[in-house]
Amino acid sequence: MLLKSKVAIVTGGTRGIGRAIVFDLIQNGAKVLFTYLKSDESAGIILDEIKGLKGEAEAIKADVRLYDEAKKAVEETVNRFGKVDILVNNAGITKDKALMMMEPSEWLDVINTDLTGYFNMAKACIVTMMKQKSGVIVNISSIAGVVGMPRQVNYSSAKAGELGLTKSLAKEVASYGIRVNAVAPGFIDTDMTKELKQKDEFLKMIPFGRFGKPEEVAKVIKKLVAEIVEVEIDKITPEASFVEDLGMDSMMVLEILASIEKKYKLRIPEENLTKITNLSKVVELVDEFLVK
Ligand code: NAP
Repeated sequence: MLLKSKVAIVTGGTRGIGRAIVFDLIQNGAKVLFTYLKSDESAGIILDEIKGLKGEAEAIKADVRLYDEAKKAVEETVNRFGKVDILVNNAGITKDKALMMMEPSEWLDVINTDLTGYFNMAKACIVTMMKQKSGVIVNISSIAGVVGMPRQVNYSSAKAGELGLTKSLAKEVASYGIRVNAVAPGFIDTDMTKELKQKDEFLKMIPFGRFGKPEEVAKVIKKLVAEIVEVEIDKITPEASFVEDLGMDSMMVLEILASIEKKYKLRIPEENLTKITNLSKVVELVDEFLVK
């Protein structure tokens, strides 16, 4: 399974996009802790469904607006599952209004959840990931943060802020083997978009003529988090596949080829690249070309 032995935290896992991501990660073998704010009942139902799928998950009511609660969610994950490989910052809210009608509290509610919440969760996870020397953080931003949306100055600002947070943190922690990415979905069919006033107007702008589905976003997230640059020592065996078992990509395989050539002062023809799938094959190739 793509994410076997990986541990993920998903914020706002009780509904919409977060819920779809939780199930997708579970179906790909990850262990998942998800957070929520109010939906105790949905959290219970999701945990039961996951049990039925023979997956491992935990849910925790933790308000991402508060750093101590974010920390509690991360500590719970480490206590239960031993590490944190993946953080999906997803919990978000909207409070749409024209600026002239928007109360300062409505501005702050959205900024505190959608932007400070992402900061709180990333901060709570980062030392654990730095010690592991691996991790992936995916921030669910929005098209609103890229192009701006009327009646959403609070939400568009928070979502644009998440992009800044993503780019800055990515540069800060790349050397620790931690990747930080953002995705910016368009309109997705969830509770958040149910009450949208300009729904018909927005539909006209979408080439497919429909809102996206939460499962479609989850598929993108799975691809992003699957490329975790991490090799667990006990997984390295002569037969372990570089790509499937050890998580390498073709660039890394190329680098291996280059180091072998340098070390043994030999020239391996490029067509042999596809043969380098595991350590046994490396040894065979070196043997073959050293003799020549
Ligand atoms: P949703 O259906 O309204 O679900 C929101 C989730 O966030 C719920 O699980 C909710 O928990 C949780 N949550 C809200 N405030 C929280 C807090 N303070 N602490 C912890 N959890 C909290 O939203 P969605 O449409 O799936 O959106 C998810 C993310 O995608 C958001 O960041 C949103 O900005 C982004 N996005 C959405 C769309 C879209 O069109 N829907 C498009 C682009 C980006 P409870 O169930 O307990 O309330």
